[in-house]
Amino acid sequence: MGKLNFASLGSGSKGNATLISDGETQVLVDCGFGLREAERRLARLGVHPRQLDAVLVTHEHGDHLRGVGPLARRHGMPVYLTPGTWLSGRLGEVPQRHWIIPQSRFAIRSLVIDPITVPHDAREPVQFRFESRDRRLGVLTDLGHPTEHVIEAFSGCDALILECNHDRYMLEIGPYPPRLKRRVGGNWGHLANVQAAALLQRLGLDRLQRIVCSHLSEHNNRPELALEALSPLLDGDASRLIVAAQDRGLHWQAIN
Ligand SMILES: [Zn+2]
Ligand SMILES: [Zn+2]
Repeated sequence: MGKLNFASLGSGSKGNATLISDGETQVLVDCGFGLREAERRLARLGVHPRQLDAVLVTHEHGDHLRGVGPLARRHGMPVYLTPGTWLSGRLGEVPQRHWIIPQSRFAIRSLVIDPITVPHDAREPVQFRFESRDRRLGVLTDLGHPTEHVIEAFSGCDALILECNHDRYMLEIGPYPPRLKRRVGGNWGHLANVQAAALLQRLGLDRLQRIVCSHLSEHNNRPELALEALSPLLDGDASRLIVAAQDRGLHWQAIN
């Protein structure tokens, strides 16, 4: 195992969950899958829920929160979330609750975590930057547009899980009702492939060993389109670029 490792249980509008481990500390970011499904997907990655030190929640949307309460209650694990996410009332009782204060660094054992405010239509959404032994991983999905604050916070990562939610043309001609199209494509919705590419360019690619296209819309995107949008930035070295899928997720990736 490398210094910092990550894997995805699945990514997309039907459910998201990401595993982060540095060999000493292991946490789950979000759990948009029901209890049994989450346990099954964890097992696929060689993890038993009791091995998790905590679950961190980005925001209260069902594709991130659905399984957090059941998992925490069943296996007695601590949940970290912002007061705003808690006030949405969607979590239920959990054995141990810890507040995340946006922009205030905290640690879970050996993992150092920066919660970063993002523009998204939830009560108090954050995304995370993880650091362990001089390696940094950014988890950045569910943002309507790239802000200066986000660009500053996620610069200098060694790996990045980045939202490539939709292709603008597919969203425009796709099956969503007009109101939902405006929400998804708007400033407080989700990041389009072209926006992900622009953001990546601003972040700088020198240090990035892995870029994971994530949270792809089932109806409004295709993996090829996300890859096509980002690969011109990589000077032909597309091996750094991978896609996290809804069903299969993403197997363990080591940051060297
Ligand atoms: Zn969301
Ligand atoms: Zn989401």
